Amino acid sequence: MIDDATKEIVRKRANYLCEYCHSPERISTTRFTIDHLIPKSIGGSDELNNLALACRRCNERRYNFVAGYDLETNAVVPLFNPRQKIWSEHFIWSANGTTIIGVTPIGRATCKRLDMNDDRYPEDDSVRSARGFWVKAGLHPPSEDSRVS
Ligand SMILES: [Zn+2]
Repeated sequence: MIDDATKEIVRKRANYLCEYCHSPERISTTRFTIDHLIPKSIGGSDELNNLALACRRCNERRYNFVAGYDLETNAVVPLFNPRQKIWSEHFIWSANGTTIIGVTPIGRATCKRLDMNDDRYPEDDSVRSARGFWVKAGLHPPSEDSRVS
């Protein structure tokens, strides 16, 4: 069980962004979840270095997976771990700010495993559409992230 004080530390450390898809918690209808990087079911702890802030969408899709498949290199690789890796070294935003592009095997495998762009659906009926509104409102992408120029 993770207490409220620990949750607050995790939320603040993440700058209130989902540590996978970088959605802002402040415009979400629900509080984000505390994700265990090594799932509890396989022995992961409640220590801060095993916790990440995740939107419900990413948390559900990550489920108990710790690895993913990169189509470009045909490699099984670990999913992005925000305690060990830097987001901007693995992901970049499309020029319009609505699509996350993995730029490494870890980035690509994580995009696919977490379905970070709702690829099965058309732009206007997916998470990419919501991000388009956030961009218009000046709330997205986070200023430290890069975009394809
Ligand atoms: Zn997310």
